[in-house]
Amino acid sequence: MKFQSIAYSLGLFTIAVCSHGGNLPVVDTSVQPGDAFYQYVNGAWLKATEIPADRSSISDSAVLSEQADQRTREIIQQTAQDKSATADARKIADFYNAFMDEASIEKSGLRPLEARLREIAAIRDRKSLSRVLGQQLRADVDALNNTELYTSNLLGLWVAQDLDDPSRYAAFLMQGGLGMPDRDYYLDDSPATAAVRARYTPHLAKVLTLAGIRDANAKAARIFALEKRMAEVHGTRADSSDVAKANNHWSRKDFDARAPGLDWQEYFTAAGLGKQSEFIVWQPAAVTGLSALAASQPLETWKDYLRIRLIERASPYLPKAFVDERFEFYSRTLSGTPRPRDRWKRGIAVTNLALGDAVGKLYAARYFAPAEKARAEAMVQNLITAFSRRIDELDWMQPETKAKAKAKLAVLEVGVGYPDHWVDYSALDIRPGDALGNALRAEQFETQRNLAKLGKAVDRSEWVMTPQTVNAVNLPVMNAMNFPAAILQPPYFDPNRPVVMDYGAIGATIGHEISHSFDDQGAQFDATGKLNNWWKPEDFEHFRQASQQLAKQYDQYRPFPDLALNGQQVLSENIADLAGLAIAYDAWVMSLNGKTAPIVDGFPGDQQFFMSYAQSWRAKAREPALRQQIITDGHAPDEYRADTVRNLDGWYKAFDVKQGDKLYLSPAQRVRIW
Ligand SMILES: [Zn+2]
Repeated sequence: MKFQSIAYSLGLFTIAVCSHGGNLPVVDTSVQPGDAFYQYVNGAWLKATEIPADRSSISDSAVLSEQADQRTREIIQQTAQDKSATADARKIADFYNAFMDEASIEKSGLRPLEARLREIAAIRDRKSLSRVLGQQLRADVDALNNTELYTSNLLGLWVAQDLDDPSRYAAFLMQGGLGMPDRDYYLDDSPATAAVRARYTPHLAKVLTLAGIRDANAKAARIFALEKRMAEVHGTRADSSDVAKANNHWSRKDFDARAPGLDWQEYFTAAGLGKQSEFIVWQPAAVTGLSALAASQPLETWKDYLRIRLIERASPYLPKAFVDERFEFYSRTLSGTPRPRDRWKRGIAVTNLALGDAVGKLYAARYFAPAEKARAEAMVQNLITAFSRRIDELDWMQPETKAKAKAKLAVLEVGVGYPDHWVDYSALDIRPGDALGNALRAEQFETQRNLAKLGKAVDRSEWVMTPQTVNAVNLPVMNAMNFPAAILQPPYFDPNRPVVMDYGAIGATIGHEISHSFDDQGAQFDATGKLNNWWKPEDFEHFRQASQQLAKQYDQYRPFPDLALNGQQVLSENIADLAGLAIAYDAWVMSLNGKTAPIVDGFPGDQQFFMSYAQSWRAKAREPALRQQIITDGHAPDEYRADTVRNLDGWYKAFDVKQGDKLYLSPAQRVRIW
């Protein structure tokens, strides 16, 4: 479970959507902290900050991401001139430069896709349809670690620790196939969603026309109808985050019996999974429904559908007309962004996608000092100690459950800055002047790399994020965490300011990640990573009830008159926010060793702590982007994450919040989990 939703990944193109703070803010005295804490802390920033035209949102982490992009660009430019550059560095430069060579891309047109388009044209029966669908399976989803639930291929593959047998990797299959980000965009009738939907079929028709495909309007309508049928069999976003509903072990034979339609033998053989005897099917009803559509829907519609999906996935690497049309729908319509990002920024994004570890190795060596790594590791240890003490002090949990919780905490695998070993890219062929070919081969390489893990022992030291990513992640099944170098820096982690502010910002992030091992999902996995309820029943019942109280608290937030948060969908992240904030507060108090924190700008230490927390969440997003987040994301919008403070007694004391204040919760309404 990652810390924040900074990337909407659609196929080959990841749009990084993610500022600079520093010290205490100038507070907005027109509001009371107990009425509108987020506004009180961030009012001046919100007033002064505009979302850049090429972004759908702005936040501190977005500014840091821009900085990481700028640094990566410098690394690439220096590498390009360095005759003694390593093979990996050469690949980075060749990949990026091929993407930047718009003249060649323009000249190539759709030629790099010809072989694949011929394969689609040659589909003549269900068997060949199944083969082409199987060839497209990619390791492009992630159910629990990096939480990427979207793929535009019919299904997505995730290779991760088996939920029943943590010693080995399993092949997880997840639902996919939609061109829009979630089933709600096809089925929900609110005016904002209907408005997006109304522009989707014309978008499909435009892409078909650009590709020289005749009869585009009629074909687009049929493609939309097929995708709508797919959406109807898709599981909901909330269901997809329920591990208990998702741990479905299917043998190879089960697919024929339980999901007739596709020729599964053909599908799996083409996917490189012909010998795999067992799978974990995350949304079984969707697999059954999608497979049935392979049999019931006309082949010609499937062929048009496959053409458009192929072109859409490739469009970032295609001539400008395709790139512009992609921007119009996916960025302007779906996220409200007025202007495309500069090409070089897109170039960095796709290079990170293809060669993330190779870039990360150079990035970490240059931008993450050993002293900062040591300082961050010490902070993580303080947070773990604070969490351990909190477990000791819980009044509702019995000793047996406490012992198991502490055993789990003791074996957390913590990664700080960068991984101990890196992905080996020697088998990845990157050619100068072949932008799309490089991207397709990189995607295939990543899939092969994951397929090769099947049957091997699990490597708990493997990272799922690159060091240049401004984010953090808990890998619940591996009971491990990654804190990339790019988030371990100002304004979140700054050696030049009062340490209390670090606790309120990066401390709460670290606590958040630790506690994911104990959120509503993490609590279902034991110390070995096995899906195994280790709780005394009455303890688990208390945990469940307190979690439901938190889900209800978030159901109350209604950013738009027609769209409220779904407390269940964002529950895991909110439990982690709540626990993370609480243990960061404890760890800060512990660090004082009984002394009083210095007053800064008139604010005592506890006020600084909570202000730093709310400040770390300051953000602005365009309305369509915010709506998209509410529909598709496991994270609540940033403002509501800042409102987590309402559940901490310490916040009431710090700001003298009383009954009658808008954010006031009675002691019984405050959710206490960890
Ligand atoms: Zn999280």
